Amino acid sequence: MKTKTNMYPEAKTWSPFKGCGFDCTYCEASFKRQAKRQQQLCQECYAYEPHCHEERLAKIPSAQIIFVCGNADISFCPRSFTRKIIERIKTHNVRCPHKTHYFQSKKPAYFTPILAEFPDNVILLTTLETNRDKGYRKISKAPRPSVRYQQFKALDYPRKVVTIEPVMDFDLHEFGGWIRSLRPEYV
Ligand code: SF4
Repeated sequence: MKTKTNMYPEAKTWSPFKGCGFDCTYCEASFKRQAKRQQQLCQECYAYEPHCHEERLAKIPSAQIIFVCGNADISFCPRSFTRKIIERIKTHNVRCPHKTHYFQSKKPAYFTPILAEFPDNVILLTTLETNRDKGYRKISKAPRPSVRYQQFKALDYPRKVVTIEPVMDFDLHEFGGWIRSLRPEYV
């Protein structure tokens, strides 16, 4: 599925993998709602179950910015398949080297074993809604914000972006310190 987003008007989503098991409460109104439009095409998409669409590997959308598996959390994708996605980007780069590809996860440690395989035009992205862990389990099954922050910080990778969405109550000094220490290209 190709999805234009308002936040990145030049972006499209490329979904050779789809779905997520983190069950964020705010996902119902966004990604899961989009997925429900796929009922006629794929029941796993409709149910937002993690699954691969190998047939979609071939067609990378024509856009400057590509959200790779943007309707998913890629940490649920078998790494063997993520490696196929990376290889596909590398072959595509021969013809289209100026695109930027975003891989996003709320479990950044997933990327650790494959960091060296990403080409230069890949940016890694994570979401941090707050610095507060307390009560977070009511929001999501994803790694708690402090764990996610530490995992993202530990990635030895030069190109990072942080999304703060949806913004939850946070502690300005501590959260600001986190964001600065991650040295993202932008927030
Ligand atoms: S991590 Fe992302 S895709 Fe997964 S449930 Fe949360 S908002 Fe949805």
